Amino acid sequence: MTARRHPALAAADPALAELVAAEERLQADTLRLIPSENYVSAAVLEASGTVLQNKYSEGYPGRRYYEGQQNIDRIEALAVERAKGLFGVDHANVQPYSGSPANLAVYLAFAQPGDTVMGMALPMGGHLTHGWGVSATGSWFRGVQYGVSAQTGLIDYDAVRDLALAERPKIIFCGGTALPRTIDFAAFAEIAREAGSVLVADVAHIAGLIAGGAHPSPVPYADVVSTTTHKTLRGPRGAMLMCREEHAKAIDKAVFPGLQGGPHNQTTAGIAVALQEAAQPSFTAYAHAVVANAKALAAELLARGFDLVSGGTDNHLILIDLTGQDVPGKVAAKALDRAGIVVNYNTVPFDPRKPFDPSGIRIGTPSLTSRGLTPGHMPQVAEWIARAVTAARTADESALAVVRKEVADLMAQYPAPGLPL
Ligand SMILES: *Cc1c(COP(=O)(O)O)cnc(C)c1O
Repeated sequence: MTARRHPALAAADPALAELVAAEERLQADTLRLIPSENYVSAAVLEASGTVLQNKYSEGYPGRRYYEGQQNIDRIEALAVERAKGLFGVDHANVQPYSGSPANLAVYLAFAQPGDTVMGMALPMGGHLTHGWGVSATGSWFRGVQYGVSAQTGLIDYDAVRDLALAERPKIIFCGGTALPRTIDFAAFAEIAREAGSVLVADVAHIAGLIAGGAHPSPVPYADVVSTTTHKTLRGPRGAMLMCREEHAKAIDKAVFPGLQGGPHNQTTAGIAVALQEAAQPSFTAYAHAVVANAKALAAELLARGFDLVSGGTDNHLILIDLTGQDVPGKVAAKALDRAGIVVNYNTVPFDPRKPFDPSGIRIGTPSLTSRGLTPGHMPQVAEWIARAVTAARTADESALAVVRKEVADLMAQYPAPGLPL
């Protein structure tokens, strides 16, 4: 298979080619429920693997530190224009290497080491780079953290306001990695205005939903919008920072030369292609289908007795609290993996267990929706999850093998974009 798809690689490095082929088979045969993953199109895959790889381009279109930018400038300008058009922003920087460096650039633009910054706590659903202790953003800056209400599992905006007014952080991050509910960007903007803070909406997970109109946009409210390009947006691994004109210089200076050297031009090209795909009516349909699948899956899981953080979902993501199932998140995640269902173990809010051995699993529907699964399939998906979790509890390996076979049979009927048949 790889010899046909990647003939030069197969000839030059058969061992590596075989590993790529094995990964292609794994991605084709399994049901991928990790909410931060997706399948890029064949076009994005091709654009990200081009000779653009060979070019150094420190600087920005029209003002580079290297010659020979005739084509690269136009490619980056195209990506920037498409980002501005899709999200309706004044300014876009498409150079950040990934979501974490994009966020670090935001700190560089608006804060000094030691300044107070505010974000959602990691175990509550925030991201490491929102000032959590083990991250550079939590050791070089003084991170203060908000969470969700223990009763509802929802962000308590009054508590966020109290903390912001008490701490007056330079930057407030909203958004996260394990938030199943709609973020009220207007409420955050009001709080940031009262506290005199820069508001950063980190929409890494939901950028595709926003582009497709399936989640409200932070653009009218946030000073800066940070996003990865490889989650629901379905582009290559990368990131973008978008902002109003007044912050454009600070953001660009922070990304280069503040933090990075040359941009990854092959990734910029892939981002440009993904942004064009995301501007099509079919992507609007995709974004809404992701949410419809997640809501259907949540309902089916609830019907099977699963406890969901916040009681369900508004977006692409579901956080299952397994405390009542009497099986730790990691044990369940590993059993699901053996059953061909790929998830990640995750903390739940107020988790009594440790982050490396937490109580929950995090799932989502971006990947299965890219393969064409619909709400009609969600009873089956929930049933497989239930059977695998039961098998995890009872150490029933043969039950996991049966699920794995059933999963592979269904997935064979729904080929993944970008993968060989
Ligand atoms: C995924 C994610 C990031 C980081 O992205 P990487 O590309 O993994 O560095 C940042 N913020 C949020 C909210 C994320 O979900």
